[in-house]
Amino acid sequence: MRSKRFGSSTGHTDKLITEMNFEDTLKHFGIQLRRKNPKTLQINVGKLCNQSCIHCHVDAGPKRTEMMSTKTADRILDLLARMPSIELVDFTGGAPELHPAFRYMIHRVRSLGRRVIDRCNLTVLQAKGQEDLAEFFRDHCVEVVASLPCYSRENVDKQRGRNVFDKSIDALRRLNSLGYGQEGSRLRLDLVYNPGGAFLPPSQKELENQYKKELWEQFGIVFNQLCTMVNMPIKRWGEYLVHTGQAEGYRELLVNAFNPQTIDNVMCRTLISVSWNGRVYDCDFNQMLEIPVGGRLRTIWDIESFEEFKHDFIATGAHCFGCAAGAGSSCGGSLV
Ligand code: SF4
Ligand code: SF4
Repeated sequence: MRSKRFGSSTGHTDKLITEMNFEDTLKHFGIQLRRKNPKTLQINVGKLCNQSCIHCHVDAGPKRTEMMSTKTADRILDLLARMPSIELVDFTGGAPELHPAFRYMIHRVRSLGRRVIDRCNLTVLQAKGQEDLAEFFRDHCVEVVASLPCYSRENVDKQRGRNVFDKSIDALRRLNSLGYGQEGSRLRLDLVYNPGGAFLPPSQKELENQYKKELWEQFGIVFNQLCTMVNMPIKRWGEYLVHTGQAEGYRELLVNAFNPQTIDNVMCRTLISVSWNGRVYDCDFNQMLEIPVGGRLRTIWDIESFEEFKHDFIATGAHCFGCAAGAGSSCGGSLV
């Protein structure tokens, strides 16, 4: 394995970074990863999805049955009501829109005056029973963050399934027609790019310009911002890397691209992640690996307020190199 020697910023002896785990690497740079006051609540409502993408870190799909109960949803929303510092609620899954209580949860969050993001795979807008979903988003000012890993049909279908590209384009046109992504509109539409292979994303700004040009010229589509994300080497994507003999090379790529400047902004600093069964995590990736918040299992029934996690240590693992590689990666795109 190739290794990279980092200059010490802390007075410690230089170490070969590929020999260190994430915790050692933080220590080497004199960084302590602790929580700040939570600003974002990410709710993962379950693993049901109408797609089965190869890069999925959730292992979501049409046959998954894990789903949040209404009792759990109500408890989370009660905790949210007690926590005014949480400005944003971020719904994810699976395809969160397929949860029977999705619209109820959005109603409640909006009635508390908080912003709402829906992490949308776009094709769900054409799923049975979801014909009025786009209008629902518009009427409740839901911010849509939609996956579109390329502006080419071939690349999207390879990663996300047959006909996904055409359906995604139809969905984007529909959202645009309602005002999403249009200049001066309060309806926000962001797109998410993730690499189609075992490599890091290119510059977010340059790729955004390219996306804007191609999507406008080819399809008349507009959007607000492109968020580039690193593929996390866990679950389905992790298994794919192992099956194709790329796991070690990808790990080496992430580790050698470690950028200490990203750490101040990694999302776990200000985000609380809650799973479909009410367990609390530092982020959605830790949730998928079942690494509990701060390394200690706690559920929404064990706490009186999300404020209890303020200043706690964050539980990390080898996958965290995915957030700190290159320009960094988070649910909101690159970090530096
Ligand atoms: S990546 Fe998103 S759309 Fe694809 S299977 Fe996973 S949850 Fe579903
Ligand atoms: S994987 Fe989660 S815990 Fe690790 S750095 Fe990223 S956001 Fe933080």
